[in-house]
Amino acid sequence: MLKYLSADVLAMANAFEHALKNLASANKYAKIPADIFGKICVPEHVHQFTISAGGKKYQGYRVQHNAARGPYKGGIRYHPQVEINEVKALATWMSLKCAVVDIPYGGGKGGVACDPKKLSEKDKEAVSRGWAKAMAPHIGAWKDVPAPDVNTDSQTMAWILDEYEKITGRHEPAAITGKPIELGGSLGRDKATSQGGWFVLREALKANKLKKGTIAIQGVGNVGGWLAEILHKEGFRIVALSDSRGGIYSSAGIDVHKALMHKQAKGTLQGLAGTKLISNEALLELPVDVLAPSALENVITKDNAKNIKAKLVLEMANGPTTPEADAILDKKGVLVIPDILANAGGVTVSYFEWAQNLSGYSWDLGEVDQKLERQMTRAFTAVHETAQKHRVSYRAAANVVALERIAKAMQLRGR
Ligand code: NAD
Repeated sequence: MLKYLSADVLAMANAFEHALKNLASANKYAKIPADIFGKICVPEHVHQFTISAGGKKYQGYRVQHNAARGPYKGGIRYHPQVEINEVKALATWMSLKCAVVDIPYGGGKGGVACDPKKLSEKDKEAVSRGWAKAMAPHIGAWKDVPAPDVNTDSQTMAWILDEYEKITGRHEPAAITGKPIELGGSLGRDKATSQGGWFVLREALKANKLKKGTIAIQGVGNVGGWLAEILHKEGFRIVALSDSRGGIYSSAGIDVHKALMHKQAKGTLQGLAGTKLISNEALLELPVDVLAPSALENVITKDNAKNIKAKLVLEMANGPTTPEADAILDKKGVLVIPDILANAGGVTVSYFEWAQNLSGYSWDLGEVDQKLERQMTRAFTAVHETAQKHRVSYRAAANVVALERIAKAMQLRGR
């Protein structure tokens, strides 16, 4: 049966297994008692339902992983390959991510198996309202707080919030984050993941006595695009950028602003004056100081890990490195800043949005950035100290920090 599945689908089906493998290896150091560890490995609730929209039926999901530290929190993804194992893995990673940055949430993740490129705006709205109708009894500011993920945005969140509030009959902006600013969204949410990535990278460079130097970024969507702009301003030389169609390279450095304008105008990065074409595969193997995979899962694999020449890998995408590749990078001495730390700035500012909504008071951008910097710096310090204590990689250390915090909350609750 498995041989009939494409590599992409197999990788996602295996994602939950990968998440559990990472947890099990981290537990060699965290030493969480078996009964509690066993509970952390099993999502608390799994919701699967059918959504009817535009005369078609779609499979909807929400996995609520662990609520010991607070309400479930996590995005909703629209993609043809969304399936239950992937959603379970992403929900588990959300619990770990929220614990690493020490925000008061558990993990959740949702999705709809659909191809958003083939949906009209009206059908997208119907799918989003259908998701909210099915999940209305199970979400809310103090229960489960959804947010955008791949192929969903602030408009999607506006439809979901509106449908949820129609059903409950009252305003509850803190029930959803990643909303438009006009409906209670937070300033700084758009760049938060990349801004947080920079704060963590800055601390990692300092702690490991590495220099800023050159960087290659795979994917210039929301996360990669903002990261390129921020790091360009911080003095990095951006030598390569890419999107799904391929990449561009310049050893002298790419003018990021020009590259993003070019992509906006032409729909592609290719053709920017002063740059050469480069494939997404070759971009990953460039001799750079920092490599930032910011697009897809499973791009650094056992086949290309040995060719990675970067000194540091900043995992802005979720799950860009397979466990086999991770072991190879570790052996080669490549410093990997794991996704649950590197890209946690997004959920951190989602937490700020929720806090602002609950207090009915909004913060200016300076306040958001300052609080984000403090949260990310503290998280890096906790992971760095744990890595030194146990002499393990940052990935193992981040999992240890997260497991210990989740287990402590479960013990205090007597679960
Ligand atoms: P996005 O859809 O805005 O951008 C994705 C980018 O990847 C696009 O530029 C696209 O062209 C490119 N891409 C797609 N296929 C590619 C391929 N085969 N090779 C190279 N590039 C390819 O998505 P995003 O919000 O920027 O998210 C990117 C990653 O970051 C995802 O893994 C997501 O889960 C993760 N992430 C995002 C956030 C957030 O706040 N948006 C937070 C945490 C993690």
